[in-house]
Amino acid sequence: MSQPTHIHKVSNEAKQQARLSEEQYQRMYAESVNDPDSFWREQGQRIDWFTPYNRVKNTSFAPGKVDIKWFEDGTLNACYNCVDRHLAERGDKTAIIWEGDSPEVQDEISYRTLHKEVSRFANGLKKLGVAKGDRVAIYMPMVPQAAYAMLACARIGAVHSVIFAGFSPKAIADRINDCEAKLIITADEGRRGGKTFGLKDNVDEALADNRCPTITHSVVCQVTDGEVNWQPERDVWWHELVADVSHECQPEVMNAEDPLFILYTSGSTGKPKGVLHTTGGYLVYASMTHEYVFDYREDDIYWCAADVGWITGHSYIVYGPLANGATTLMFEGVPTYPGIGRIGEVVDKHQVNILYTAPTAIRALMSKGDAAAKTSSRDSLRVLGSVGEPINPEAWEWYYEKIGNSRCPIMDTWWQTETGGIMITPLPNVNDLKAGSATRPFFGVEPGLVDNDGKSLTGATEGNLVIKQSWPGQARTLWGDHERFEQTYFSTYKNQYFTGDGARRDDDGDYWITGRVDDVLNVSGHRLGTAEIESVLVAHKAISEAAVVGFPHDVKGQGIYVYVAPMTGVTADEALTAEVREWVRNELSPIATPDFIHWSEGLPKTRSGKIMRRILRKIAANEHDNLGDTSTLADPSVVDSLIKHRLNK
Ligand code: ATP
Ligand code: MG
Repeated sequence: MSQPTHIHKVSNEAKQQARLSEEQYQRMYAESVNDPDSFWREQGQRIDWFTPYNRVKNTSFAPGKVDIKWFEDGTLNACYNCVDRHLAERGDKTAIIWEGDSPEVQDEISYRTLHKEVSRFANGLKKLGVAKGDRVAIYMPMVPQAAYAMLACARIGAVHSVIFAGFSPKAIADRINDCEAKLIITADEGRRGGKTFGLKDNVDEALADNRCPTITHSVVCQVTDGEVNWQPERDVWWHELVADVSHECQPEVMNAEDPLFILYTSGSTGKPKGVLHTTGGYLVYASMTHEYVFDYREDDIYWCAADVGWITGHSYIVYGPLANGATTLMFEGVPTYPGIGRIGEVVDKHQVNILYTAPTAIRALMSKGDAAAKTSSRDSLRVLGSVGEPINPEAWEWYYEKIGNSRCPIMDTWWQTETGGIMITPLPNVNDLKAGSATRPFFGVEPGLVDNDGKSLTGATEGNLVIKQSWPGQARTLWGDHERFEQTYFSTYKNQYFTGDGARRDDDGDYWITGRVDDVLNVSGHRLGTAEIESVLVAHKAISEAAVVGFPHDVKGQGIYVYVAPMTGVTADEALTAEVREWVRNELSPIATPDFIHWSEGLPKTRSGKIMRRILRKIAANEHDNLGDTSTLADPSVVDSLIKHRLNK
């Protein structure tokens, strides 16, 4: 009962250019899961170690004894690997291309400059008493100093916790207090879409009335030169802090299992979790996935259009690409400013070869027809990527044709904050592509599907997505709460990591993520993935975005409640609603026919752009009095309007 599959086969010509042949890929994959010790022993060499490791994998998913260690007797420094080790051969190479919010503003930072800036700031942090093991919060806009701050922490062994710059004072305070950060690094203001927004103001409010007692200082980077309040005993200007420090700072020797960072999940399913990543395994995994998934080559210009506030920004703007000595583009602005063509214009301007973005951005551009493709050629592009949500085939094809000029393979990468790096993805010109499918597990990743009783399912089927064995990039714990870590990920299905997502495996063994398990509907005994219904909805010409949730239904068990945003210029009336209902019946199945179709200009999203279905579920079920944690919502007013106009009263 699924839509026809759009298959894009790898041509013979493209195969010639691939990093691996299909056979090599199969062989490597088989070794990676059958003999992980020897596979990762070799792959671990891709980064530099101060003391080489002898032990490779030492991991247990056993109930009550979850313990994950990789390369545990090796020592290294993540900053050294991302910066210092490139100086000899790539000192003058551009490490970071910074593209400002305004198309007139840009900067290029060489590896040599990066080394100097990071070392100076690291010395500044030391001057403020930050030492190995201390936690440091970072609340920064998308400026190079955000990367300097992360790397400086890594250099001295401090554990950074980046807080997305859109978060409220309360969200900042919660995160600081959860990890007992000693210091916060911020900026006066940030810029996005032609507007400035206060950052230090939010930090001031978070720290007011001794709400965050562990914080001793706040370091403030001058970005816009906007007005700020100042507390001289607490606040320190970045530029003053580094004015008289040395350019030399010895990187701290860290054990492979020493913490590198804490990052809170986006909160689309519940209270955010303080995911902890450590140094060695994470870096090996981020660097290897960056190279293979994007077929990264030495002189490529690589652009991940995420924010450093998310795991995608950590692994694929900062750590992965810099560990590989790449040129990574950091974008301060938004895809629609100053015009809808901005993404392509940035691609042309910097001759970007690899572009990695999210379905939410793709759908925003797609809602304006093909205007986004009119102002640029994008001829430099070679590989495209997508991450964050299921990408529906409609958006996939649009991305492929309009942005990639029908030339560039799309890597639909499934992964999570907890996985540290990409887990299920095709590899460019190695695997055939199917619009809407993340296809194959990456090296070392052994996915499985299980039913609700934990029974392992074989062949072409659908179920709960688990990962059967550890991989180096895996989170080690939730900060200060190992019990919640075990409870959340290892208690549902014994000896396996539970992802919380559902997936379908087709006859070829390719994986299709069907959405959060909580979002898989059971309508009159039929399992329906919300992602599947949504992709049919978005394929309708009048619809730009859709979210589908279930609600308790007397007869069917669960009914189908659909939220849809119209394309620009479309008026939603009864005739259109009837047409959409008929469309879903015909394109998917009569079982999938929506009970309610709720038109809304906007859908509630997390700050990272994901639709918050748990809130939509509450509204559909008429339980809007108890919406749960809404601190990560981008625009709370959308929710009020949805409640007001709810259909299931
Ligand atoms: P929380 O765990 O707090 O609810 P979150 O799961 O939204 O937040 P992230 O770690 O940022 O936080 O997101 C990971 C989730 O995003 C995955 O579990 C999956 O549901 C979804 N996802 C990411 N990439 C893809 C993809 N390519 N296809 C389908 N779903 C994806
Ligand atoms: Mg999650």
